[in-house]
Amino acid sequence: MTEHLTIRHRVLDVLRAHPAERFCTTCLSHMLDSPETSVQQVTMKLEAMPGLTRAYGSCSTCRKDRIVVGVTDRSH
Ligand SMILES: [Zn+2]
Repeated sequence: MTEHLTIRHRVLDVLRAHPAERFCTTCLSHMLDSPETSVQQVTMKLEAMPGLTRAYGSCSTCRKDRIVVGVTDRSH
């Protein structure tokens, strides 16, 4: 039940630790050692959060063009 909440926190930690980078769900799932389906569901919800972006772009890790997530608010 709390798995998605945990993944959500870990995704946010990764994104905030690398504010200039964008990550696809595949790379995030590898970094967090979590199922990609869970990471994908989490990132879809993060899209609605202020300071976060989810859009088509180049992943900072695998360099593939796909849906990537990252932080946009660098002041906090
Ligand atoms: Zn990637």
